[in-house]
Amino acid sequence: MRAYNFCAGPAALPTAVLEKAQQEMLDWHGKGLSIMEMSHRSQDYIAVAEKAEADLRQLMKIPENYSVLFLQGGASLQFSAIPLNLLGKKSQADYIHTGIWSEKALKEAQRYGDINVIEAGTRLEGKLAIAEQSTWHLSDHPAYVHYVENETIGGLRFAGIPEVNAPLVCDMSSCILSAPQDVSKFGLIYAGAQKNIGPAGLTLVIVREDLLDQARADIPGILKYSAQAKNDSMVNTPSTYAWYLSGLVFEWLLEQGGVDAIHQRNLEKAGLLYGYIDSSEFYHNPIALQNRSIMNVPFTLADAALETQFLQQAEENHLLNLAGHRSVGGMRASIYNAVPLEGVQALVHFMDDFAKRYG
Ligand SMILES: *Cc1c(COP(=O)(O)O)cnc(C)c1O
Repeated sequence: MRAYNFCAGPAALPTAVLEKAQQEMLDWHGKGLSIMEMSHRSQDYIAVAEKAEADLRQLMKIPENYSVLFLQGGASLQFSAIPLNLLGKKSQADYIHTGIWSEKALKEAQRYGDINVIEAGTRLEGKLAIAEQSTWHLSDHPAYVHYVENETIGGLRFAGIPEVNAPLVCDMSSCILSAPQDVSKFGLIYAGAQKNIGPAGLTLVIVREDLLDQARADIPGILKYSAQAKNDSMVNTPSTYAWYLSGLVFEWLLEQGGVDAIHQRNLEKAGLLYGYIDSSEFYHNPIALQNRSIMNVPFTLADAALETQFLQQAEENHLLNLAGHRSVGGMRASIYNAVPLEGVQALVHFMDDFAKRYG
């Protein structure tokens, strides 16, 4: 049987998608070979790649004046590619610091420019929150403003889109496609695939075309957005299987009713889990209501000494990968698009049973 997988990444994929990939594994569409064995320059593969892009554009309502790039190197390589491409003649960029991923991004950017760090983590009635934008000190003319919409490790997310006078750059690795988003508000959106899109090995970059062509002269060719856009993300061999499988996930999302429909389900799943945690004396979530992630739900037990038992018994109940990130401990349930409501129901049922036995 398939267990419910609450891993933060690489994360759960829809069973229907894996079944389709399995059916097509040995003989893709009667061609006598696997998609993995096909040239990325072949007509068949290019059709797969283009269909994936068209479906993503439909799902996210991506305007015409944006390029969609299917790259490699993870979101982490974008931490370097973004300043190398976007600082242009300016030397300064603003980075909003809200947790571990925004910190990694800004540390990398500091190699290339003068980075103005906005400390936006705060506390509201003892709970972790993101400070109001009115308290931030943005610089006057930054090349861009970078933030992480959903801090995957902390379980903290922005309640809205910051209002800035520069291109807005957003790491959406753990929240892309989880809720409707107005792409036209952004200069660049990027996301590693292995949370809410598909398998590891693919990174999406959605970039407004006027930002494509301001890379530093010494940028590695493969990192240059304008070159990737011109070559349909095939400057070199792309991650063909991950691209294909992400395309199957996009088709699955469209069948589910698109991003609006999946958002409603995500709200229902998150509401159920937070509702239970809040009603319980045994479990605790540290995030202020307005900034709670609907994708990554961290929680602690009343007695940390019970964590090993909790994780072991969860696993016996086919509820996998609930340990929090090694840097913060505690528990974390990642409830991405592919985790069904039944999975969250089973988790809440188990948590309640555990609390009754040990609370
Ligand atoms: C997982 C994650 C990353 C890192 O992604 P890689 O693909 O492993 O480089 C960066 N940012 C956020 C918000 C993430 O969740």
